[in-house]
Amino acid sequence: MRILLVEDETSIANFIREGLEEEGFSVDAAANGKTGMQMAIDNLDAYDLILLDWMLPGLNGIEICRAIRKVSSDIPVIFLTAKDTADDAVFGLEAGANDYIRKPFAFEELLARIRVLMRNRQGDGLVFVCGDIALDVDSHRVTKNGKAVELTQKEFSLLEFLLRNKGKVSRRTRIIEKVWDIHFDYDSSVIDVYINFLRKKLDEPGAESFIETIRGIGYRINNES
Ligand code: CA
Repeated sequence: MRILLVEDETSIANFIREGLEEEGFSVDAAANGKTGMQMAIDNLDAYDLILLDWMLPGLNGIEICRAIRKVSSDIPVIFLTAKDTADDAVFGLEAGANDYIRKPFAFEELLARIRVLMRNRQGDGLVFVCGDIALDVDSHRVTKNGKAVELTQKEFSLLEFLLRNKGKVSRRTRIIEKVWDIHFDYDSSVIDVYINFLRKKLDEPGAESFIETIRGIGYRINNES
């Protein structure tokens, strides 16, 4: 999960960045409006969420937010604002922000709001998350702890299928049908080979695999993962 942070006050920017990195997010920071706008627009697909200060040198947060919304309707944007009247909050939301948080705030509160927006986005069926692993269907990207993991097309499809069926056993016959598009009796040991590829790339060394083997039946990624 990668977050773009646009904030000109160094102490606040550092406080947010350190907190988020500790939680496993990757953070790119911009310290003025112009750089923030450029980073957002040039590379929007790379970000999962944008934290946008309102008062910035150069362009302000409202202008940046409007520009982002012209390019993407669904990237979550949270305003960081020192303004505190209800009108200002409405103005921010009208510019296309999903949420706002007033300074000063507790880091835990910011984190909670980020998680809510990430979850909502997952509800679109676009991003599947399992622990520190995230699979973004639209951008065809898999990350672990916010860092990109290179998967082949087949590995990606297999992981997507297992994540779409998270909590349920994916039977070998279904996997072969859906991921390999093979509808006749077939030696399905190819699945085990690809499961091993995924485990090598995504498991924590020494820990139990995030993909559970259901012997003779199939595989499962558990809900609590
Ligand atoms: Ca500011």
